[in-house]
Amino acid sequence: SLQDKMESAFKNLKGEGKLTEINVAQSIKEIRRALVAADVNYKIAKEFTDKIKDEALGSKNILKSVKPGELMVKIVMDEMTTLMGGQATGINVKGNPGVVLVAGLQGSGKTTFSGKLALFLKEKKSMKPLLVACDVYRPAAIDQLTVLAEQIGAAVYKEPENKNPVSIAQNAIAYAKGHSHDVVIVDTAGRLAIDEVMMTEIRNIKSGINPTETLFVVDSMTGQDAVNTALAFNDVIDYDGVVLTKLDGDTRGGAALSVKYTVGKPIKFASTGEKLNTLDVFHPERMAQRILGMGDIVSFVEKAQDQFDEEEAKRLEKKIKRNKFDYNDFLQQVNQIKKMGDLKSLMGMIPGMGKAIKDIDINDGAFSKVESIIYSMTEDERLKPEILNMSRKRRIAMGCGHNIHEINMFVKQFEQMRKMMTQMSKGKGMERMMQQMQ
Ligand code: GDP
Ligand code: MG
Repeated sequence: SLQDKMESAFKNLKGEGKLTEINVAQSIKEIRRALVAADVNYKIAKEFTDKIKDEALGSKNILKSVKPGELMVKIVMDEMTTLMGGQATGINVKGNPGVVLVAGLQGSGKTTFSGKLALFLKEKKSMKPLLVACDVYRPAAIDQLTVLAEQIGAAVYKEPENKNPVSIAQNAIAYAKGHSHDVVIVDTAGRLAIDEVMMTEIRNIKSGINPTETLFVVDSMTGQDAVNTALAFNDVIDYDGVVLTKLDGDTRGGAALSVKYTVGKPIKFASTGEKLNTLDVFHPERMAQRILGMGDIVSFVEKAQDQFDEEEAKRLEKKIKRNKFDYNDFLQQVNQIKKMGDLKSLMGMIPGMGKAIKDIDINDGAFSKVESIIYSMTEDERLKPEILNMSRKRRIAMGCGHNIHEINMFVKQFEQMRKMMTQMSKGKGMERMMQQMQ
């Protein structure tokens, strides 16, 4: 399984002291193979592992207490979460009534899902759902929905004589209004493969009822086919979200990992069994954890990261006190700030800062100049800012493409900042400021 293969990729790093070009490359290769074997498209797998590689090598083994294999698990987990959409996404069932259209191939699990969703809305949202039988081709399909509805104590709307699913759905919505149903779930007919007739019908139903939420249901066991079907349906009905079914089976994970990336629509629900109460809102992070089966390692690494940040802050404070804060420290701080995201809102949280920066244009680009200046310094210059004389500054100016005045200005600013930081730290001002910020 994907989980076993991933585990073996991480085992590569067992006994290694740190992440290196060589051992990362080895793991990356195995991870990519595992993904492709799990039916993830090669292009996605490649892009994914390229990102992992950058992250792993960029992490520089900063966490002493974390083993390389554990760090790698965390990196892969985070990247997988992002690949699957990051956050859980809800559905829109507001309306008079809210209308959910359920589409997908035959056997994908539409009818089962419709029942599960009805139960979910009834129990979790205290709604009064109406299930609508629009699979007009098989009498058994109407019976199946009727049985499901009975099991969960929900109402079902059907017109066995009517062979026009559009008018059935429209009539059902009118009926719902008259019978205080606040949400209507329209179960449709699928076919074994994508064809004209099915696509025309589902398109007509959609335009005939204008649903608040259109969901595409797909069997996660069908791997890359699932992704292709998802694309085809999206072209025709531009759905709002995907429902992955049969995640309880021997699914290889490929569909879950690829569909958001490929179609650009979020996975909203995961269905993991034939029992009606087994519908879960899809959480990318939990899914990544399930795929890797290593949630405990992740929380461990997270804790270690916090600890690292603390150690790092202490180290920096010592340097500042001895007036040893250098250009490398400065760069590291810049990167830290960039990693934290939106700079302006971040600085706005510092007491007194909000007003001061209100009108200033601050973004990541604000740092690119100082970064390019520092990158043009030699290691020696970065560690010993005091050796920067005129000829060195001229060389730096040539290297980074800024003029000598800009270099002078930045160096002067840096020196002022350094002096101020040292003074503040001696007067305990720094500590107090830090406490305020927390
Ligand atoms: P439809 O043709 O799209 O309406 O699909 P159905 O809802 O009738 O489901 C087809 C088959 O898959 C049925 O035997 C269901 O019991 C089964 N099924 C549906 N969802 C799941 C699921 O999440 N897990 C498992 N194991 N089986 C499911
Ligand atoms: Mg069905």
